[in-house]
Amino acid sequence: MNFLSLIEAKREGKTLAPGQIQEFIREFTAGNIPDYQMAAMLMAIYFRGLDTAETTALTLAMRDSGDVLKFPKDPRPLVDKHSTGGIGDKVSLPLAPLLACLGFRVPMISGRGLGITGGTLDKLDSIPGFKTLLPAAQIVARVQKVGCVICGQTDKMVPADKKIYALRDASGTVPSIPLITASILSKKLAENLDALILDVKFGCAAFMQTKADACKLAKAMVALGNECGTNTRAILTDMNTPLGRAAGNWLEVKESVECLDSSAAVPAAAPKIAGETPALRCDDLRSLVLDCAAHLLVQTKKSKSLAAARRLAGDCLNSGEPRKKWDEMIVAQGADLKAFNRKLALDSTAPAVVEIKPGKSGWVSKCDARVIGEVIRDLGGGRLTKESAISYDVGVDWMAKPGERVEKSGALCRVHAANAAQAEAAAARLKTAFEISPRHPVVVRLVHEVILQQPT
Ligand code: URA
Repeated sequence: MNFLSLIEAKREGKTLAPGQIQEFIREFTAGNIPDYQMAAMLMAIYFRGLDTAETTALTLAMRDSGDVLKFPKDPRPLVDKHSTGGIGDKVSLPLAPLLACLGFRVPMISGRGLGITGGTLDKLDSIPGFKTLLPAAQIVARVQKVGCVICGQTDKMVPADKKIYALRDASGTVPSIPLITASILSKKLAENLDALILDVKFGCAAFMQTKADACKLAKAMVALGNECGTNTRAILTDMNTPLGRAAGNWLEVKESVECLDSSAAVPAAAPKIAGETPALRCDDLRSLVLDCAAHLLVQTKKSKSLAAARRLAGDCLNSGEPRKKWDEMIVAQGADLKAFNRKLALDSTAPAVVEIKPGKSGWVSKCDARVIGEVIRDLGGGRLTKESAISYDVGVDWMAKPGERVEKSGALCRVHAANAAQAEAAAARLKTAFEISPRHPVVVRLVHEVILQQPT
């Protein structure tokens, strides 16, 4: 193929035919197009964009560059959720077993964290014995048997995205809506889903910092997902404040289990937050988990309305069955349940824990997710490069959230660190993440918008 003429055409703002896109993705994946030419094409796309037909062709060609999961016929719909990532975003962990108990099959292919954003696989790696890398046949077998799997992409799935993403990273072409859309959806479409819910975050700790940019990305992904035959919706959620009360790999697994276990007691040492009952400890987390499940119930026509779907999902979560399903899922993926339960019973697995005091009584008006994410990354809980090793034990918990009352002697949060000096240094930085106001602040809502199927 004459790839140079396609680069020149895109550089001049021309539209590429679906067949041309399919061919260059096939040739690039096979190693027949050099990286420098592909980088030039990516830059041309970055500046000139792709229309809907081009983005669809790119997404499908990337999906078809490797294995697509094939499931046997089954009345249980295949569903998944994708989040653009944030601090304390552990929704996938309780959501997968909840969805399995609601009669879905969930092949949840997840990723690792980079920078301040945590990754689902890193969190799961903190579970003794848990295996996140499964061959395609085992992914399918476990989904059929248990109802849900959370694992990484196999080497043979969407290899075009792996190669293209590495080039985008090195050529300044990551922030392009058609390229992001094709990258995310090619991986989700390789799961062969009936329905997909996208959680597109905006705010200081999100990939998309403004709501307008998040909305643009969400609309593009919803349009394309539906165009490619998967019922797709998106919610736009606030990521100025962390989700839940814990951030850091193991601490997030612990909080996910609390969320699944409606009868979980608040740890004896937890701070008293005025007006709050133990069941509300992970309220925003629980709320988002139920929202995602409710949308999928409506998208697959298992429920007639969102209100009915939310009730159904809430009752299911309260039944305790998703908590049992969690154990079944982690055991099916190699976890040592006894060791996991022993770890779960510990207050902390980090060598040093320091409580951060507010210094004055009042209402929390800010809990800055970016500062908290940066502190955790610098404690070793996040990656600076794709190759960095990470610590599972460090993090922040007991976070007081905007709108909550704190007393001078109470706690804003706790930090878990590798040693006392790191804990004290982190505590000083964490204090700057919080603002205490004498008046009750206006609390922004978590879910700002729902993006439904777009007219094409
Ligand atoms: N996540 C992805 O998988 N791809 C992108 O391009 C951006 C975020």
